[in-house]
Amino acid sequence: MSAQPSPAPEPLDLCERAPDHVRAISPYQPGKPITELARDLGLDAASIVKLASNENPLGLSPKARAAIEAAIPELARYPDQYDLVAAVAAKHGVAPEAVVLGNGSNDLLEMVAAAFLGPGRSSVFAQHAFAVYPLATQARGAASIVVPARDYGHDLDAMLAAIRADTHVVFIANPNNPTGTFLPADAVRRFLERAPRSVAVVLDEAYNEYLAPALRADTVAWIREHPNLVVTRTFSKAYGLAGLRVGYAVCHPRVADLLNRVRQPFNVNNLALAAAVAALGDAEFMAKSYALNRAGMAQLTEGFARMGLAWIPSHGNFVSVAIPRRDAAPRAAAVYQSLLRQGVIVRPVGGYGMPDHLRVTVGLPEENARFLAALARSLAQ
Ligand SMILES: *Cc1c(COP(=O)(O)O)cnc(C)c1O
Repeated sequence: MSAQPSPAPEPLDLCERAPDHVRAISPYQPGKPITELARDLGLDAASIVKLASNENPLGLSPKARAAIEAAIPELARYPDQYDLVAAVAAKHGVAPEAVVLGNGSNDLLEMVAAAFLGPGRSSVFAQHAFAVYPLATQARGAASIVVPARDYGHDLDAMLAAIRADTHVVFIANPNNPTGTFLPADAVRRFLERAPRSVAVVLDEAYNEYLAPALRADTVAWIREHPNLVVTRTFSKAYGLAGLRVGYAVCHPRVADLLNRVRQPFNVNNLALAAAVAALGDAEFMAKSYALNRAGMAQLTEGFARMGLAWIPSHGNFVSVAIPRRDAAPRAAAVYQSLLRQGVIVRPVGGYGMPDHLRVTVGLPEENARFLAALARSLAQ
């Protein structure tokens, strides 16, 4: 035995030896941060309008802010999820055992994948659906079955038909991002009645709070009849807490037990827990956010109509607008760049198979107006 190992014939590339399914992942592309564009263009960050990540333009609820300040002295302690679990359980009329908290609802989508997917298994989701579904699936070495959309929305009949013997998860975004399309309650129910009970059906309701009251349904109540249903919600959108990372799932307690086994024990931090409890109790802020979104959506779509642009009718706090081609060539990427140069950040959605659209988040009235004016200028170029 020699003390010195003989030199390897070639450098050991640990990255090349990572599993193929990990190496094949194309990273998530977030909306461009304000600070990054400010650095790129040498602009004042305060002059930049970001309508790229479906954040709440009102910021966070004053009650959540006060709760965060009050929780600071406890930051040396590990978090206790008890209060938020109890508050979510009370809101939905379920036992605390039916609630799982996530570091954003993204974390819950990952937990579902970790609990039910793996090599030799598959998930089903729609074309143009939220980007995290393929990412969470692929990270587990499972296969993605992408079902063609119908009018940009989920085709539930086709999704049902796409379920294979190796399918363990179906992801349904309602409303969907980035299309804003919505499936009425009875369509989702019919799907649940026909889907195999051995398949977890994730109903991702990240934009539920923006739905018109007539369209809202007590989807959590369906879990009694459909124990394979997992409903997810987030505090990132209407609740205005995207930067804190907190969301939750409601599901059958036995499903929750599985998700909790793959959950990091302290996955939601103290500030997020405190803020989320307070946000759940701030009905006034939610009503204000809802009303602002309705008015802003009307402002944006009226602006599109004036410019002769088509858009996908949206039930969220964002809308995807079609950028007309020039000489048959897609122009959305160039318009995105032109908007950036004018200090306006929106979201290109070519990665979602929508190379002719740009997704814009509903902002404050003055932000929407700046975007519309910049868009008109970009299109005139
Ligand atoms: C934004 C979003 C989420 C989750 O975001 P988190 O910040 O991780 O809670 C989930 N689903 C859809 C469709 C979204 O658009």
